[in-house]
Amino acid sequence: MNFLEERILKDGVVKEGNVLKVDSFLNHQMDVQLFDQMGAEFAKRFAGKPINKILTIEASGIGIASVVALHFPGAPVVFAKKSQSINLDGDIYTAEVESFTHKNTNHVLVSKKYLGPDDHLLIIDDFLANGCALQGLIQIAIQAGATVEGIGIAVEKGFQAGGRMIRNLGYQLESLAIVESMDDKNGTVEFRPQ
Ligand code: 5GP
Repeated sequence: MNFLEERILKDGVVKEGNVLKVDSFLNHQMDVQLFDQMGAEFAKRFAGKPINKILTIEASGIGIASVVALHFPGAPVVFAKKSQSINLDGDIYTAEVESFTHKNTNHVLVSKKYLGPDDHLLIIDDFLANGCALQGLIQIAIQAGATVEGIGIAVEKGFQAGGRMIRNLGYQLESLAIVESMDDKNGTVEFRPQ
């Protein structure tokens, strides 16, 4: 079992509706030493890739991506902003993202100033469930003509469809913990062996 899986077993809480709460170390209070360990692990898994920028999505992705970026020297972090409405002034890339946790649809947008064809991206996010957030970020990368070198996720819920879908598209998707099953009645979490 790796460091993130151990931490999930220690501090994660399984909620109704297939939601894993990790507010005490990832989504509200943030354990930045843990994020640093995650960054070191992503640096190993994506070694040799010409990554020059990290792309994530607000809000929970920002903290993780910022610490992970320390392991990719020279790579700034760009985060997609969420907005209910878009001001289409032509200077932004946009995609639609359905939120798993909030059950609403947001537009996500990135300024054209900060993403372009020379960028080789590592996409980072906290959770992968149905893959909507990642699909939105990938769409934005495609609009920018950027190359997605890899995708790094903290927690993938392997029993939801996102992981398979993204891997089938041919992306190198690395999830540090893959939850195979969880049960809110007795609080158990089981991981896919990696
Ligand atoms: P997706 O777009 O893959 O369906 O969902 C990914 C997004 O939903 C993540 O960015 C994350 O914020 C949120 N999310 C999905 N499932 C969970 C969960 O079980 N726990 C938490 N804390 N967030 C989740």
